[in-house]
Amino acid sequence: MNEIPFAIMAIYIFIFGLCTGSFLNVVILRSLSNENFVLSRSRCPKCKKQLKWYMNIPVFSYIFLKGRCAFCKNTISIQYPLVEIVCALSFLGSYLAFNMTLKTIFVCIILSFFILLAGTDFKETVIIDTHAYILTFIGLLYSILKLSDISLAQAIIGSIFGFLFFEILARLTKKIIGTRMFGEGDSLIALALGAIFGCKILAIIIILSFIFQCLFAIPIMAYNAQKNKKKSLAISYLFVLIGMLSVFFVNYFKLLNDFEYLIFALLITIFLMWAFKNIIKEILIKKDALNNKNDENILNSSFYLMPFGPALIFSATICLFFLSNIKEIILNFLIV
Ligand SMILES: [Zn+2]
Repeated sequence: MNEIPFAIMAIYIFIFGLCTGSFLNVVILRSLSNENFVLSRSRCPKCKKQLKWYMNIPVFSYIFLKGRCAFCKNTISIQYPLVEIVCALSFLGSYLAFNMTLKTIFVCIILSFFILLAGTDFKETVIIDTHAYILTFIGLLYSILKLSDISLAQAIIGSIFGFLFFEILARLTKKIIGTRMFGEGDSLIALALGAIFGCKILAIIIILSFIFQCLFAIPIMAYNAQKNKKKSLAISYLFVLIGMLSVFFVNYFKLLNDFEYLIFALLITIFLMWAFKNIIKEILIKKDALNNKNDENILNSSFYLMPFGPALIFSATICLFFLSNIKEIILNFLIV
């Protein structure tokens, strides 16, 4: 039997990814609204009319309907083509990275669950428990079948470590500042990631996700603070971001000599202390507001937290594909 040419196979896999993405969209939507996603046919979420088959073709329907429902002309969320394209690219990426192997199939399933978890988290800051539990089980299976570099024992330990890390931090912050720094969903995502990657790589993923959270979430939080007329809070957020970035660049490229570095470290510490003072002040205002059930204050001070799940999942995806590169960068960073 002739083997299917590489390019043709790549196109098949891309199209299969688009279709899977289309299915994931339905799962995201219906698991948030508790609908059964197997039995009922696709409907427009706004006018509830049943879609014709040609309105259901991944990406193409969105383009040729110009992003609007054919019946009610309401705009269709950009989520639909976005999830389809992300899914197609992840499937194609797994094929390019691992060829046509059992590992590829597992990586594709893992990436599909990543999209589900990130999707519901982005849309409504909700993690569906069942998605996380199934992914944890798949992670354990991944090591049982010897597709990952870790043993089953390491996968189980990684899982427990991930869950406890976020749960303990969340409960500590709940005790100290009156609100959980991480949602329950983050603990569940870490439970699954620990099973897939084990402790060591999970630790790398957590560090990476803190970095991504800073790069993406801090500008948004600063913008929200500015919108709520909290200028010093907005500036504090930006200081944290600039401080972390400059520490990274100075260390990574070894830009300063010892004396310069001392001055630099001192300045950064002063700026960061000022910034953290402002941020903690805001957190205490929120704690007060929560205690007094003062609704308006809760509303005004609820902008300093962002869902952490998407950052975790983004970092995990990078580690699935580029682990050796990441390890190299970290080693380079640590060796001064
Ligand atoms: Zn409609």
